Amino acid sequence: MSDFPTRHPYSLGIWQNQIERIMAAWIAELPVRIRYGCEVTGFAQHDSGVEVQLADGETLRAAYLVGCDGGRSAIRKAADIEFPGWDPTRSNLVAEVEVREEPPRGVRYDAAGVHGLHRLEDGKTYRVIVTEQQLGPSSEPTLRDLSETLVAVFGTDFGVHNPTSISRFTDMTRQAAAYRAGRVLLAGDAAHIHYPAGGQGLSLGVQDAVNLGWKLAQVVKGVSPEGLLDTYHAERHPVGARALKHTMAQGALQRRDERIEALVEVVSELATMDEPRRRLAGIMSGLDIRYDLGKGHPLLGRRMPDLDLITAEGPLRVFELLHGARPLLLNLGRTGGLDVAPWAHRVQLVDASYEGEWELPVLGVVSAPAAVLVRPDGYVAWVGAGTQWGLVDALTTWFGSP
Ligand SMILES: Cc1cc2nc3c(=O)[nH]c(=O)nc-3n(C[C@H](O)[C@H](O)[C@H](O)COP(=O)(O)OP(=O)(O)OC[C@H]3O[C@@H](n4cnc5c(N)ncnc54)[C@H](O)[C@@H]3O)c2cc1C
Repeated sequence: MSDFPTRHPYSLGIWQNQIERIMAAWIAELPVRIRYGCEVTGFAQHDSGVEVQLADGETLRAAYLVGCDGGRSAIRKAADIEFPGWDPTRSNLVAEVEVREEPPRGVRYDAAGVHGLHRLEDGKTYRVIVTEQQLGPSSEPTLRDLSETLVAVFGTDFGVHNPTSISRFTDMTRQAAAYRAGRVLLAGDAAHIHYPAGGQGLSLGVQDAVNLGWKLAQVVKGVSPEGLLDTYHAERHPVGARALKHTMAQGALQRRDERIEALVEVVSELATMDEPRRRLAGIMSGLDIRYDLGKGHPLLGRRMPDLDLITAEGPLRVFELLHGARPLLLNLGRTGGLDVAPWAHRVQLVDASYEGEWELPVLGVVSAPAAVLVRPDGYVAWVGAGTQWGLVDALTTWFGSP
């Protein structure tokens, strides 16, 4: 993806505990409290709200409840939301251990799947990922399971000892049939689980939350009718379904018997060609997502590019204007040419100019619009061609009646 028109044309490996710290720090900037150590045991949903039961007996009341409680989501189960998909066919052990023998570098593929040991920054701990010879049980794996799997793959267990963690994951692939049941919504692994090929799970879940957050805020504040929440499922379910399909395909390519080896060669060859490479990179990065907001300019329903704008206040990046998570109407035509007076308190109207090309990931160069209405999640909700045609409808649909 190094030729993608983005300021960050690469994938970045950040440990999940660091991501959690970064997000917790952002949340700390807002008037929002995180309560750690509260186990949800169930909830009751009424016309006006949700009562959430905690394990310590306390009950919390909220207008809405979002289950971000992972693949085994208690909230999804209590909401009776089906979780159809595919049962696991293989399992991996992932562990952090010390070794007595230096393991080989790199990743090994065989008929079982993918295997590798990678030394961590402290110089003595190794992160191990191995595929088990048979689908493992749902119980917690042991050091002995790890040792036996390593012997089966490498002929030695490298003297693994002193584990800090050992766990098992599978290629089970499932997606919630509905992302909303009344006042209960699902996001992240609670809504979809898949094999971690391509490292997409976390960003998929974060994008669910970014899609949902502003909609939920508007509904809670009474700005928008609750029907706005249905666009969450409509937009995010197809994105999740596509990720599931691609991770299943990638997972299949990791099982290297001679026939799959031949398939891997064919796919690899195709991936050296620009169009397939861009298509695949667009899918894995999520930069090619298009929400179905109807026919029109190619920008409609796509992620707004982070352009360098010139404004009355000087140069500005589009994404700086989105930091406040408020809708943005960017007028790139005649200054003062757009009027959104009835929405002025909700929508920031910025007159700006932009000289460069409009290039989108995967799609390439598109024609320059005269104006764009950008939702707080960064997706384009309306594209202007020099008039206000359709603007009032778009404003009402996404940001409520004036
Ligand atoms: C080996 C492996 C490698 C991966 N690598 C990548 C990668 O490189 N890139 C990537 O993007 N993704 C990767 N993923 C996927 C990623 O880890 C998940 O998609 C992501 O963690 C999902 O986040 P989540 O917040 O939805 O769920 P989780 O991370 O599962 O968090 C759920 C949280 O809810 C809490 N919880 C659960 N039940 C309750 C309850 N009843 N009450 C209160 N709290 C509860 C849990 O304690 C937990 O804190 C990988 C996954 C695996 C297994």
